[in-house]
Amino acid sequence: MRDKESLMAWSPKMSECPVRKPSMVPYVASWSSELPGIEAMLDVKWDGDGPKLGYKGERSSDRVGRDEVLWARMTYQPGEGRPQFDSMHPGRQYFAMRWMTCQVCGETVPRNNDGWLFVDWRKKQDPPTWPEGSVTDMPPLCEAHARLSIAECPHLRNTEFLVLRVRSPRIWGYSGVPYKLTSDGWAAGKRDVLCPVGDPSLRAVIGSRLYRELRNVTVVGKAGTG
Ligand SMILES: [Zn+2]
Repeated sequence: MRDKESLMAWSPKMSECPVRKPSMVPYVASWSSELPGIEAMLDVKWDGDGPKLGYKGERSSDRVGRDEVLWARMTYQPGEGRPQFDSMHPGRQYFAMRWMTCQVCGETVPRNNDGWLFVDWRKKQDPPTWPEGSVTDMPPLCEAHARLSIAECPHLRNTEFLVLRVRSPRIWGYSGVPYKLTSDGWAAGKRDVLCPVGDPSLRAVIGSRLYRELRNVTVVGKAGTG
């Protein structure tokens, strides 16, 4: 399987890739004109299990997945203002990861017999079997934009990463800001939390990233900082 896709093809010499301004703004990147929701929008909803985080004037599109996770609101104005390469728009990240579209162009990512293309690096939550079982919030890439990201992405330049084909990228869970109900209303936790699908604490989280677990992984390329 692996010889179809040469390791070398995915392993450019870093010296051949001078640092330059990225030629394309990724679909998932947020823009300076896109504004997040504000806490005044929050509301206390009640169901059989007690209080639940919600929005005033909530719409069905404000919740995602089987867990009906309340999703972070952000205005949608791609192309206006400055691109923020280090920040993903919560709505576009969800769309790309849920529907397996390319994180750079937003088009459906084709798969081959070994699955879809992902670029991945070690993260603290990864199991010792990494890259098998890696949990990632970075949506897949089409072939052209995997190559473009390797050549241009400033983060990848300083990171040891692998190019993977993944046959079973199954939905794993969410990350977002946890809230606690106090006498003054909802109070935000200081740090984002990572919650698997079905976690009861998702009732009080504003989700902003959807994660997939990479299963049945084939390494098709690698590159490092050296
Ligand atoms: Zn693409």
